Amino acid sequence: MDSIEHWVGGRRTPGTSGRVAPVFDPALGVQTKTVDLASTAETAAVVRCAVEAASRWQQSPLGQRTDRLFRLRELLVAHRDDLAALVSREHGKVLSDAAGEVARGLECVEFACGVPQMLKGSHSSEVSSGVDVHTVLHPLGVVAGITPFNFPVMVPLWMTANALACGNAFILKPSEKDPSPSLLLAELVQEAGFPDGVFNVLQGDVEAVDALLAHPGVDAVSFVGSTPVARHVYETGTRHGKRVQALGGAKNHMVVMPDADVDAAADAAVSAAYGSAGERCMAISVVVAVGSVADPLVDAISSRIGDVVVGPGDDPASMMGPLVTAEHRDRVVSYVLGATEEGARVVVDGSSRTWSQGFFTGCSLIDEVKPGMRLYDDEIFGPVLGVVRTATFDDAVDLVNTNPYGNGVALFTRDGGTARRFEREVTVGMVGINVPIPVPVAFYSFGGWKASLFGDSPIYGPEGVRFYTRPKVVTSRWPEPTESAIDLGFPSTR
Ligand code: NAD
Repeated sequence: MDSIEHWVGGRRTPGTSGRVAPVFDPALGVQTKTVDLASTAETAAVVRCAVEAASRWQQSPLGQRTDRLFRLRELLVAHRDDLAALVSREHGKVLSDAAGEVARGLECVEFACGVPQMLKGSHSSEVSSGVDVHTVLHPLGVVAGITPFNFPVMVPLWMTANALACGNAFILKPSEKDPSPSLLLAELVQEAGFPDGVFNVLQGDVEAVDALLAHPGVDAVSFVGSTPVARHVYETGTRHGKRVQALGGAKNHMVVMPDADVDAAADAAVSAAYGSAGERCMAISVVVAVGSVADPLVDAISSRIGDVVVGPGDDPASMMGPLVTAEHRDRVVSYVLGATEEGARVVVDGSSRTWSQGFFTGCSLIDEVKPGMRLYDDEIFGPVLGVVRTATFDDAVDLVNTNPYGNGVALFTRDGGTARRFEREVTVGMVGINVPIPVPVAFYSFGGWKASLFGDSPIYGPEGVRFYTRPKVVTSRWPEPTESAIDLGFPSTR
């Protein structure tokens, strides 16, 4: 069986730990490959390689870096379908969705092509007599990126593009569930002309992550994944003196007001809840139906669910693929099976549909969900949409703000005043007004609030550039030797 290796110093590098994990084709439900899992010693070797490469890469002229990034952009465009096929085969999502993920990652590379504009720093002349000040944005050195299974191309590109553009070396630790796209990315980075060792892939699990978090050669860590692991990564990484941004899980609400267009809201809810089988951190998992909109909205959503074609990702007719593993599918199904006992009402039971192969489940819709139920409190990360009914707009905002997560939220209304209040009052990092999945474009930054982000820095866009650099302030003067004198006073500007 094929083994998915590491990528170190510009070449595929077989693992030596003797530990591997299985990789599945979720549509067939069979194991297709294994992936090597790095030991602490292998992790240390990758870090050594990256440290060496970083010392040279940070000296590279900005024009050389952007030239490589432009080339990478062209290669990603040329290989868009190859990347999407790899994603679909190991993640399960349908090909059009996988191509969409590649496109959004590509936008981060396009943003990074313009990074020199953001690295300009500032200059002040004559801040005191004969004294000038300027700032320089330095790369950090070696950045590790630890990524989740649900976007095996886009999330690595959220990090890699800016990290390399800012002059850092990068170690990608992809999810062990769908690791193949990471190696194609590595080949494209090499073909684009980045020096060997500047981009490395370390396949692995918790051992590799913990070794990266403790290694003194790693200067910063970008993490995207579930909240418990994000918290662990943030606490452990910062304890070891690293700069850490750790993006966690989510429970995204879509609030629908009585004045909203019910059909448009139902279309949006179905698309945002069941797209990618609900395995998106910005998926809508709770519809909050305010007042009289609840009954017509639940009817409109349930009447659309039958139109969602569930099937293998490479079948052009499929709109939703399988879940990533059998274990995850069984966990998702358990929420539907337990819904009635929790006091909720199952409107559409997708869990009762069966397939002859693969990790499939159908779309489920559960009404009368309330806080305190597992259905509401947990991030399910599958095609299960809950409906919470509230009497008023204020109740809806309270519900959203009391939730421990704060990644994305949406409001559907035709009233500008309500939208403006909502935007100002919700304690959530990314807000959509009549937009169900408000993922910011690449020249803004992505990040939730509360338990959806540990650390101060959102990811990609301008915040990404800030995260991957540190400022130095230089104060200089060029006195005539004859003007020199001893002065023990505190430097004064006037
Ligand atoms: P995960 O937390 O299980 O894994 C993420 C990464 O951490 C993987 O590389 C994995 O190998 C590693 N990891 C797993 N357990 C670990 C442990 N105990 N110690 C150290 N490292 C560990 O997440 P996942 O299941 O791959 O991805 C789905 C989760 O990611 C969901 O919670 C989703 O909401 C979240 N997510 C968040 C965002 C965001 O931007 N906020 C984006 C995508 C996904």
